[in-house]
Amino acid sequence: MFKVDNDKCYRCGICTGIELDVFQFNDEGNIQINNDKITEDNMDQVMTAINSCPAGALQMVMDDNAVRDGFNPIENEKEDN
Ligand code: SF4
Repeated sequence: MFKVDNDKCYRCGICTGIELDVFQFNDEGNIQINNDKITEDNMDQVMTAINSCPAGALQMVMDDNAVRDGFNPIENEKEDN
């Protein structure tokens, strides 16, 4: 399953633009993730959204104790230089 840290989220809308069924803004203007809408068919788009989040606000939760921070392309670009 996936989680969002709305304290980090920029509200840029990238994730909602990639997979609107899964990533949506709620009435408070925060991102909510509809994990029950993730299927084999849209998993590629979900992973693209996770990897595209500029804030690193999206996380894959492996189990209760293991959380992998979302891939941040901006930070990785800096590390490459
Ligand atoms: S891509 Fe990341 S920063 Fe942008 S709205 Fe989604 S969770 Fe927030």
